[in-house]
Amino acid sequence: MNDLIIRHGHVIDPANQVDVVRDLFVRDGKIAAEPAPGATVVDAKGLVVTPGLIDMHVHLREPGRSDKETIETGTRGAAMGGFTSVVCMPNTSPAADNSGTIALIKQRAATVGLVNVLPAGAITKNLEGKELAPIGSLKRAGVVAISDDGYCVQNSELMRGATQYAKMFNLPVLDHCEDTNLTADAVAHEGYWNTVLGLHGWPSAAEEIIVARDVVLAELADWHIHCQHLSSAGSVRIVREAKRRGVKISAEACPHHFTLTDECLKGYDTNFKMNPPLRTQHDADALIEGLADGTIEAIASDHAPHCPYEKEVEFDKAPFGILGLETELALSLALVHKKALTLPQLVEKFTAGPARILRVNKGTLSVGTDADITLMDPAREWTYDVHQTASLSRNTPFHGWKLKGKAVMTIVAGRIVWQEKS
Ligand SMILES: [Zn+2]
Repeated sequence: MNDLIIRHGHVIDPANQVDVVRDLFVRDGKIAAEPAPGATVVDAKGLVVTPGLIDMHVHLREPGRSDKETIETGTRGAAMGGFTSVVCMPNTSPAADNSGTIALIKQRAATVGLVNVLPAGAITKNLEGKELAPIGSLKRAGVVAISDDGYCVQNSELMRGATQYAKMFNLPVLDHCEDTNLTADAVAHEGYWNTVLGLHGWPSAAEEIIVARDVVLAELADWHIHCQHLSSAGSVRIVREAKRRGVKISAEACPHHFTLTDECLKGYDTNFKMNPPLRTQHDADALIEGLADGTIEAIASDHAPHCPYEKEVEFDKAPFGILGLETELALSLALVHKKALTLPQLVEKFTAGPARILRVNKGTLSVGTDADITLMDPAREWTYDVHQTASLSRNTPFHGWKLKGKAVMTIVAGRIVWQEKS
């Protein structure tokens, strides 16, 4: 059962500095040193074989908004995108601020049985930023991190307490960095295009002030705060300087923020509306630089499904966010194609990078670890058709895009959970 021989693939395993063509063996769902007798052979010639990809920032919407997405549809999209593990954000209904909701999510994920669902618990009760959630009991229920994503804890004393508790329970604090006094009514990056288009401006400073605060709090508590979806050049600079001083701070970037700019808002298409907003080319370039020099350790999608009727409204009124799981790898491989990152560097942002931040024994092909494996073809050209998506929602700006690079097989604990039809 779950025995495989993955033959002649180009194995890239950044956690073990492996970058070589060789066979990979799976035995009883674990990576093995020797092939199991009678194992199923998978021909990986011409393909890249990596540890199963991890997306540390997705919204699965269950419980509460199963019209937008469910754990089943979201994890199917993850598998199609090459992801074997996803971290789901706690802004569900009810919020994942208690052990019961975490248990429900884990139980649903186990029933669906596609990819690993690693829940994040809330920092504050009902993500209201007023009172700490029971972080110890969330930890016992199995969360890998705490986050109020979608919201940002404005009260720095409360955030300090959260960071100190998180330290006791060895959990990273994932922060959606937004000073909400600076973003009241804001929908678009504050700069040239929001002025031309008459949209309320969202200054980069709204993010940078909180990133800077988090650096100070991480230093004060001597504990790890992770800044989610960095979008501005200033944020990258602040994180870079802090890391140089040894502060326990980390960051992720989303493909839309380094692929698109605020100029895309010209047509008022709400599929370009996200939080934080698309910014300038200068910011996108800074994110890519941050990925290249190690300032940004992970790439994540911020997969945020919304129903068509919610997005088909005036720009000001539409909810923030787009789908991401199925386009994320190809949009990121574009950085390799234009030689901004090497392929092993990119693979690390989806494997060893997020695993390190989350302190999970994933993102590696070490013998004895769970056989979570992704097979990809970085040169495969394809067109993204949102009508073929696994998601229940359709909110993507990338429909019809010609992309290069694709996952072709996703393996979780030695079980092939998705493969491209040939
Ligand atoms: Zn967020």
